[in-house]
Amino acid sequence: MNVEAKISLGRPAVLDVARIREDFPILRQKIRGKPLVFLDSAASAQKPRAVIEAMREAMETQYANVHRGLHWMSERTTDAYEAAREAVAALINANDAHEVVFTRNITESLNLMAHSYGRGILKPGQAVLISGMEHHSNIVPWQLLRDERGIELRVVPVTDSGELDMDAFETLIADGKVGLVSMTHMSNVLGTYTPVERIVRMAHAHGAKVLFDGAQAVVHRRVDVQALGCDFYAFTGHKLYGPTGIGVLWGRRELLDAMPPFLGGGEMISSVAFERSTWADVPHKFEAGTPPILEGIGLKAAIDYVQQIGYDAIAAHETALVDHALARLGTIEGVHILGRAQDRGGVVSFALDRAHAHDVATLLDRQGIAVRAGNHCAEPLMHRFGLDSTTRASFAIYTSHDEIDFLADSLARVREFFK
Ligand SMILES: *Cc1c(COP(=O)(O)O)cnc(C)c1O
Repeated sequence: MNVEAKISLGRPAVLDVARIREDFPILRQKIRGKPLVFLDSAASAQKPRAVIEAMREAMETQYANVHRGLHWMSERTTDAYEAAREAVAALINANDAHEVVFTRNITESLNLMAHSYGRGILKPGQAVLISGMEHHSNIVPWQLLRDERGIELRVVPVTDSGELDMDAFETLIADGKVGLVSMTHMSNVLGTYTPVERIVRMAHAHGAKVLFDGAQAVVHRRVDVQALGCDFYAFTGHKLYGPTGIGVLWGRRELLDAMPPFLGGGEMISSVAFERSTWADVPHKFEAGTPPILEGIGLKAAIDYVQQIGYDAIAAHETALVDHALARLGTIEGVHILGRAQDRGGVVSFALDRAHAHDVATLLDRQGIAVRAGNHCAEPLMHRFGLDSTTRASFAIYTSHDEIDFLADSLARVREFFK
């Protein structure tokens, strides 16, 4: 059932930010006597009461280990945990909940891919194609694979406007050696959305499978893995208003079936003998040990919350916020915004003349404004633009236009300081 479709019927896509803010208890905090202006949601989002309550209630009334006990508590907990898998499947329009693997975070999802797909399916001499705007967690696992298995790592460059160089993409994939394209769906630094449909078409035309890092995209935009046509999609719970400690890897059933396991232990086996063990069916084959039970329950509550608001309203709100931020910050002298992609989501990174990003963040913090400063786990991208760090403001469903105005006003004062 599509809750969102029902709710948005006949309703304009507007988001009542004041109402939404009431759902996030932490936003009532004062920081140094000033209201908290939380503009660091791309690092981790705040949690609505629905998530907090769902996890608390599970611990108070319905908790045991899953998939093991034959007792009432275990069965109820297993149902609640498996309902989270169904919620993820519905969120991204997966064919079947069995295609949804739970991990600790997207970093683990990508390592699972590098380990099981990279070492089990790809062959030495083949290549993995990533891009110059990847998060470290979509770079390092492939480097480890390259160094261990002789699998080549190719990188699609980023243009001056902060978009993928698709001509270079075409050239890099043309020889048919690329077995897997692993790319971000939305840059956590530039806000750029990558042309995912085009990437899938080009990759498949050259015999490569496609994995998307959706850690940012799934927060801002409806993801439909069947419409995208991709083969794998990964994201992380804590950026989608859910708890830390749970991540997702979705993959096509036949591909997951063909992949060897990642971690070994309980839960992922069918039978164990010292001579030989056999594996459970997917998704359990990839879920060794006691899974993130409470985190799964929290993630389901987060997904339900997001679905009720609806991606139409979320996307419209964020487009308006980004436009407003670019207009306000773009007119402050000495502020340079990184990336000018046409299609972009709710993060804005900038550099300020003569000021280090850390100093900017520290001065903004004195006003109660939380932004991120540093390389944003994307060092190669920083170097591409000749920087070692930027300041990044990132937006969420609870971000208001007033907060962006306050950021702009405060930044103008910070700028005076460094003149
Ligand atoms: C945050 C982020 C990650 C890593 O997420 P973890 O939860 O730390 O694993 C990976 N890719 C992108 C694009 C991100 O924004």
